[in-house]
Amino acid sequence: MKAIIEIRNISKSFISKNNIITNVLDDCSLDIYENEFVAIMGPSGAGKSTLLYILGLLDKADKGNISYIFNGSIINPTKMSDKKLSNFRNSNLGFIFQFYHLLPEFTALENVMIPSILAGNTQKNAMIIAKELINNFRLIDKINNKPNELSGGEQQRIAIARSLINNPKIILADEPTGNLDSKNADLVLDILHKIKNEYKITMLMATHSNEIAKQTDRIMYLKDGKISNYETN
Ligand code: ADP
Repeated sequence: MKAIIEIRNISKSFISKNNIITNVLDDCSLDIYENEFVAIMGPSGAGKSTLLYILGLLDKADKGNISYIFNGSIINPTKMSDKKLSNFRNSNLGFIFQFYHLLPEFTALENVMIPSILAGNTQKNAMIIAKELINNFRLIDKINNKPNELSGGEQQRIAIARSLINNPKIILADEPTGNLDSKNADLVLDILHKIKNEYKITMLMATHSNEIAKQTDRIMYLKDGKISNYETN
């Protein structure tokens, strides 16, 4: 198995307004392998989102290193300028959030197209790819709806289509089923498995649900700032 992400000695604390320090991640190291589906588990406040945000380069660790290994080249984003970092993020990483984070003033189609246009694609091309993705998720009749005209399950499928539009190598999903009923949660999980296999994506998903974590390839637990153990399903 080849590592696609190497996490080395990552630590992260937050300091609150009244100067209380919360040590969220404490010297965490882990390899994530190409095309695996990893569940990150742990109680609320354990640092699951913090770890995903650091891996997604949306936040920085206080200490430690993260390397991405794409086709044999080692990339260390901590040394990149902000512009390079955001290009790297937009081209290689896809994000799915519990509350979808769709832009309310844009239609479903526009929401899916935006990362493609930001990556330099033409409007016309972005639209073709976005429509194809939305069609795969059986939402073609909803492309002109705004997010508030879609159900939670539909919004999450649009958010998944958006996460895929630039052919990411890695998808980071923060409680993607946390706001859905069990039927829609199963549907979303099914889609995540399908895209992992079809597009050979590496998938990291924070969840507090045992049922959901059991369906992934590997579970890692976060507790007291440490990756306490991990097991293969
Ligand atoms: P989880 O996703 O496992 O529920 P989080 O990563 O969201 O946990 O949070 C871990 C801890 O870090 C919590 O105690 C949370 O309050 C704290 N925390 C997260 N983000 C911030 C922030 N921006 N400022 C201060 N504290 C934060």
